[in-house]
Amino acid sequence: MSAAPIRVLLIEDNPGDAHLVERYLSREPRSEIELEHANRVGLGLDALRRAPVDLVLLDLNLPDSRGLATFEKVHSSYPEIPKIVMTGQDDRSQAVEAVRQGAQDYLVKGKVDTELLVRSIRYALERSRADERLRESQQRFEMAVRGANDGIWDWDLDRDEIYFSPRWKEILGYSDDEIGTHPDDWLNKVHPADLDSLKQALANHLGGETEHFESEHRVLGRDGSFRWVLSRGISFPGHEGRRIAGSLTDIHNRKTHEQQLQHDAMHDPLTRLPNAVLLFDRLSVALAQARRRADYKFAVLFFDLDRFKSVNDSLGHAMGDRLLVAVARRLRALLRPGDTVARLGGDEFAILANGIEDPSDATRIADRIHEELRRPIDLDGREVTTSASVGITLSSDGYRRPKDMLRDADTAMYRAKSLGRARYALFDEEMHHHAEELLRLEADLRQAVESSQFEIHYQPVIQLRTGELGGLEALLRWQHPTRGLVQPGDFLDVAEETGEIVAIGWKVLHEACSQMAVWHQQLPFSELLAVSVNISDRQLVETDFADRVQSVLERTGFHPSKLRLEIHGRLLLEEPEATLQKLGQLSDVGVELHFDDFGTDVSSLKQMLELPSSAIKVDRNYVAGLTASPEDQEVVRRLVRVARSLGMRVIAEGVETAEQLKAVREAGCDCGQGFYFSRPLPAAEARELLLRRPRW
Ligand code: C2E
Ligand code: MG
Ligand code: MG
Repeated sequence: MSAAPIRVLLIEDNPGDAHLVERYLSREPRSEIELEHANRVGLGLDALRRAPVDLVLLDLNLPDSRGLATFEKVHSSYPEIPKIVMTGQDDRSQAVEAVRQGAQDYLVKGKVDTELLVRSIRYALERSRADERLRESQQRFEMAVRGANDGIWDWDLDRDEIYFSPRWKEILGYSDDEIGTHPDDWLNKVHPADLDSLKQALANHLGGETEHFESEHRVLGRDGSFRWVLSRGISFPGHEGRRIAGSLTDIHNRKTHEQQLQHDAMHDPLTRLPNAVLLFDRLSVALAQARRRADYKFAVLFFDLDRFKSVNDSLGHAMGDRLLVAVARRLRALLRPGDTVARLGGDEFAILANGIEDPSDATRIADRIHEELRRPIDLDGREVTTSASVGITLSSDGYRRPKDMLRDADTAMYRAKSLGRARYALFDEEMHHHAEELLRLEADLRQAVESSQFEIHYQPVIQLRTGELGGLEALLRWQHPTRGLVQPGDFLDVAEETGEIVAIGWKVLHEACSQMAVWHQQLPFSELLAVSVNISDRQLVETDFADRVQSVLERTGFHPSKLRLEIHGRLLLEEPEATLQKLGQLSDVGVELHFDDFGTDVSSLKQMLELPSSAIKVDRNYVAGLTASPEDQEVVRRLVRVARSLGMRVIAEGVETAEQLKAVREAGCDCGQGFYFSRPLPAAEARELLLRRPRW
């Protein structure tokens, strides 16, 4: 009970009895019960008008009122206040009647002691609170019935007879005489899937566990279809035995709407296949089942369409969509009962296949997928064939989480893709090993950033006309504590993916600028040398990219005109305006922009026209081709011409031989870089090279 005192009004005319009650209650700690006293009913009612109390202790025989009438006076004015009536030994029948009419309890004078009195008060308060809750819910319930267009039922539990109102029958489409008065007239029509929960709800309420009975279920209507209804009720003791009565609400529209919404949330609107949410759900259920039953095995086949993008690009999105729908239809036809095929997004699908005894069961399904997709699909008279790369994982590998199983299936799919089109691959130990390796690499990388395991090597960039050094490209190296020197090719992808490249990239920029600033000071003849730093799109995409570069320049005191940022054009396609704005800001302060790996991207040329760059770096594949293939020679020659007309210089990457040097010179390239001149060198060696000032 709470700390607030219980306020009790004692209405008692006999001073001796009043004194006794006071005595009894004073043995209880004062703070718990506060007693007020009146010796007439009229005075008691006055007191209640002034300040309500928690409970009234009422002597039935008072000077201004006698017997049951006393109780009625107080009760009719204050029905909500619990009352305990007090009578003499010979007067019990009146007290019992008072209780029947709503008093919480009665006490017989002369038989009362402290404990009895206090317990009776507590009990009365508790019961009245429970009654109040019940009253509330009954009221709410009645309001609901009146407000809604509900049917009514009234079940006499002892006689097992039930009354259904005409509206009750009408909701289900029955006429008045088509439904009898037996509970089975209702229960036998309840959808088998809903019957247990309905009975459970009834039992819970009748067993006193719930304040009222409530159940949503389907009932067979007159037209032979099931309708969703909400049945609510409350049980109470009736005149002739226990009853439960309540209402029936038609919730068919809401329920079907809800189910539609739920269905929509779990399905792909285009193909109507289950979506990733539902697949995950089913996968969790399947995994739980596989853990319980050793003989239950299943597989996940994860795949995407091999050339979906090109269909989309060449035939348009509408055709792409139709292809997906057609593929979905074929996949669905492949399934056995209990299997799930889901569209996860884009052109990615997954199948949860049950009853997979050994890997060959799963690969057979993959074969069938390949067969199905090989058959031409007709899109508006145009025949399209497609294929998929399938990655497979088996539940027998002991997975616990759906996402792990899908992740590995995804890994296997990439393996399948690397083998060529229309292949499948089972996730295996080696892939597992590889995946673990990647995880370790990720962790190592984080560690490396914190403990500065990175260093920069510098590779000379040569001016081809004079053969003199024009600048250095800063290239990242990772001094791994156990693996030794690691090249960017072995960790850059992961660093890009995890975002670690951002922190690393800024460190490289800072380090390269401050190193060059030192060399400029120490080696005056090197003042003209520029440094090229590679920038990841992940850095470039940051809104304050340009400001950050400028702040590095300020902090290191390095001259902007001696900094070259090597960037890729991809971001220019995705966020042209923001990217151009940032690059423009830097170009305005004199920073040069170099377009790296030029020619590896189909859209390079378009980007070149838009980028405010000072140079393009022709990818070393072209350089390698220069001496061998006349076409490559022609490509490079034209590139040089276009670049010149745009005021850009051309740098040839990966010059390895004297012949290649000759060829890039002839093609008109301005600068060259490659092993023929020098490998990337650690800072100390690069410094010596600067001191020697070689000419090539
Ligand atoms: P990149 O910017 O195209 O750099 C040139 C790459 O070609 C370097 O590889 C260099 O060592 C290599 N190379 C130079 N001359 C020759 C040659 O004659 N023959 C051959 N076969 N290769 C040559 P590296 O250092 O392994 O770097 C690979 C790529 O990693 C770089 O390509 C660049 O895209 C990226 N990278 C390197 N450092 C950084 C960095 O600090 N930040 C970012 N975001 N990327 C970096
Ligand atoms: Mg580069
Ligand atoms: Mg390059």
